[in-house]
Amino acid sequence: IKHIKKYFKISKGWFAEKKYVKAVDDVSFSIEKGRTASIVGESGCGKSTLARLVNGLIEADSGEIVFKGNDLTHKNEAVWRTFRQPMQMIFQDPYASLSPQMKIKDLVAEPLLIHYPKMSKAEIEKIVKETLDICGIGSQHLSKYPHQFSGGQRQRIGIARALVLRPELVILDEPVSALDVSVQAQILNLLKDLQEKFDLTYLFISHDLSVIDHISDDVAVMYLGNIVEISSRDTLFESPKHPYTQALLSSVPDKDPKLKRERIILKGEIPNAANPPSGCKFHTRCPFAMNVCKEVAPVMQTLDNGTQVACHLYQENQS
Ligand code: SF4
Ligand code: MG
Repeated sequence: IKHIKKYFKISKGWFAEKKYVKAVDDVSFSIEKGRTASIVGESGCGKSTLARLVNGLIEADSGEIVFKGNDLTHKNEAVWRTFRQPMQMIFQDPYASLSPQMKIKDLVAEPLLIHYPKMSKAEIEKIVKETLDICGIGSQHLSKYPHQFSGGQRQRIGIARALVLRPELVILDEPVSALDVSVQAQILNLLKDLQEKFDLTYLFISHDLSVIDHISDDVAVMYLGNIVEISSRDTLFESPKHPYTQALLSSVPDKDPKLKRERIILKGEIPNAANPPSGCKFHTRCPFAMNVCKEVAPVMQTLDNGTQVACHLYQENQS
């Protein structure tokens, strides 16, 4: 993903001043095959928009999306369609995407019927059974309807529906946020097993740092449409660099009590995305804000430990 931008127009009426929400504002990152890259941030930071841009549900205003060497930017639906099978998406609420009148065997078969219209009934049945079984739903449940399952089981069915196409990249938007904490761990462990078994790459979206910690290899932190820090999971949790990341992490209990992180309480609310602060968008809440922060947007730079961070505290030649 290179310099992706997506602005939503919010002004109405002919004479109205044109106003935009800069939902995704010049975002760049890459995901290595077989790894889990996560995006974390508060609600409204643009992470769901970013997920939808990556799999082509919405089109970017500018920038590049390259998948396995293929530039997908501004391609028409016919081109995108050839990438629908290798790129699948899993949402927070599987119930909303599971038609209540369909048996789960039909729900899980549906993507196969769309992508492989010539596949035999026997073959489809075999793949459906196999996939549901791997996802922890036994064959005795095949003729049941979605309402007969718990939230966790429904997410297993949602995962089976995505995996039945044997994708390569799976984009997961808050996949466990609607579930109880005990069920969350089961689903996250299932996702890890499936990743290993099918050699999957994950783009994982969440607002929950304990979930991010459990599942990620790499993490990008997003604030008001920008990525402010990118790091490996271990480095991020041990040594967060951006003041926003430090504040997010200080609100969850330390895994290592020796770290004794000081709690950073952020001032104020997350600003309105239609009217974001000048310079560094975080300056209105940052405990370390300097004069330069109000005027100049910091650029992303790579530190010695490999972390990428956009903050004037780390700008070279900064006094
Ligand atoms: Fe805080 Fe300034 Fe860094 Fe922004 S650039 S996070 S305001 S210190
Ligand atoms: Mg969201």
